[in-house]
Amino acid sequence: MDAEEARRELTEERRRLTELGEWSQEHRPAPSVQQEGAMGQHSADYGSEVEESMERQGLTDEARRQVAEIDDALTRLDHGTWGRCVVCGRDIDDDRLDARPQADRCREHQEELERSSR
Ligand SMILES: [Zn+2]
Repeated sequence: MDAEEARRELTEERRRLTELGEWSQEHRPAPSVQQEGAMGQHSADYGSEVEESMERQGLTDEARRQVAEIDDALTRLDHGTWGRCVVCGRDIDDDRLDARPQADRCREHQEELERSSR
C-alpha cells in the first residue's frame, strides 16, 4: 500500500466513523421537558432507554478512539513518516499496512505494547 492509497482509505474510514458519531448524537433521547400527559408512559420506558444510551456511548467512545488513530496516521502522512514504526523507525510490513493503514508500530513493537498494556 502506498501513501496515496493509505490517505484515501483513512479519509474514507474517518468519514464513516464521524457519520456514525453524528447519528448517535441525533438519536440521543432529548432532555427537553415532556408534555404532562406523556409523563406516565415515559417513566415506564426509562430503564431500557438508559441501557440503550449507554450502549451508544460505548460505541461512540470506540469510534472516537479510532478517529484519533486515523488522525495520527494522517499527520504522519503529512510529515512523510507514515509506514514507519514510531518506536524504532523501521518500515512496517506491507501486509500490516494493507490490513490497517493506521498501524504505527512494527510487529515487534506492537506486540510489546500489547504485552505491557495487559
Ligand atoms: Zn519497531
